[in-house]
Order: sequence, then structure tokens, then C-alpha cells
Amino acid sequence: MEPIQLGRGDAAFIREVEAGSRQSVNKCCQCGNCTAGCPMSFSYDYTASQLMRLVQLGQRERVLSCRALWMCVTCEACTTRCPNEIDVARVLDVCRHMARREGYAGVRAQRLFVNSFLLPLRRFGRSYELGVMGLFKLQSFKWFADLALAPVMLLKRKLPFLPHRAKNRREVADIFKRFEERQLRALQARTPDPEDFENSGEEVRP
Ligand code: SF4
Ligand code: SF4
Repeated sequence: MEPIQLGRGDAAFIREVEAGSRQSVNKCCQCGNCTAGCPMSFSYDYTASQLMRLVQLGQRERVLSCRALWMCVTCEACTTRCPNEIDVARVLDVCRHMARREGYAGVRAQRLFVNSFLLPLRRFGRSYELGVMGLFKLQSFKWFADLALAPVMLLKRKLPFLPHRAKNRREVADIFKRFEERQLRALQARTPDPEDFENSGEEVRP
């Protein structure tokens, strides 16, 4: 790993993360409580506390290209355990949005799954499991992964063949539209709009 040159961090990156999350990353004292409670640490390249340190040091490239952002399940255990009341999950959420907006690859399968989930949601106003599976398999070429689960899900009626269309699907589509417009404005201004992270759910938390 390349050594970090102290004092040469990207100050704009720190400002963007702090503005987007409304958190002060300098409050982190590196106690490690967030990492100790994180259920996904086993899969991370940088742990939650390491990510906080990297943000403090303005390491835009390292943070936005890391795998951990895409393995985080947004359980907020880190936030709950922080003695300095930093919303760590929100900081990571902001970084994830930035990584997505700025075109960092992330974990490919994660990204494909999120996109496969959002497309039917936008069209029908609610999730369409068979559509999600089909889109994901088409893009990922994982044709046979988890196929054994399909008969069980069919028997339990968890896999309807046709999508249900929500009554308010136009309102849902409008949320996507507004989100994209804000993303575009934020990208043009290079400053994240905090409302992106409050209203999108990206779930739009991916
Ligand atoms: S929100 Fe993410 S980083 Fe925080 S504890 Fe949960 S999985 Fe770990
Ligand atoms: S728990 Fe809070 S103070 Fe401790 S390392 Fe994590 S973010 Fe920093």
C-alpha cells in the first residue's frame, strides 16, 4: 500500500463529506468502537474506523474506490456505538453516493444488483422479484446462482410471474426524477446536497 503523505490530503473531499453528512469527522478519536461492532468488517478492505481516518486525511481516491463502501449493510451499529456521537453510517452513505456519482466501480455484483432492483421499482412503483432476478442474471452472467431457491420461493408465492403495479407509481417515478436532478445539480456544484441522502433512501441506500 502506498504511504499516505500527511498534510497533502484533499481538503475539498473532507468538506464535501462533512457538508453531505452534517458530521464533523475530526471528532473521531480512533477508539475503534465502530469497527468492533460492525458485522461486515470481515469483508472490508478498510474497517469503519480506518475509513473515518482516511476521510480525516482527505484520501478521496482510497475511500471512494474501496470495497467496504459496497459491503456495508447500513445497519448503523457503528453510529450507535460511537462515543463521540458521529453518525458513521451516514458518513459512509455520503461516500457511497459520491462513489456512485463519480463513477467509481465498486463491487460489480453489488452495483448490478442495486441497478436491477431500482429499475422495476421505478417502472412499477414497487419491487418485482422476478424482474430483479432476471435483470441481475442477464448483466452478471450468474445464470445458475441460487436457482435451487426458485422452487421454494414459487411454492411460498414469493415469486409472482407478473409485476404488481402500485397505484402511486407516478409519484415513485417522480422521486427518481427529482433525485437525478439533484444529483446533476450537486455534481455541477461539486457539493453534495444533504437532501440527497435524506430523501433518496438509496436504497436508494445501495
Ligand atoms: S453501518 Fe456499515 S459500517 Fe456501520 S456497522 Fe453497519 S455494516 Fe458496519
Ligand atoms: S466509534 Fe466514533 S470515535 Fe471511535 S473510531 Fe469509530 S467513528 Fe471514531
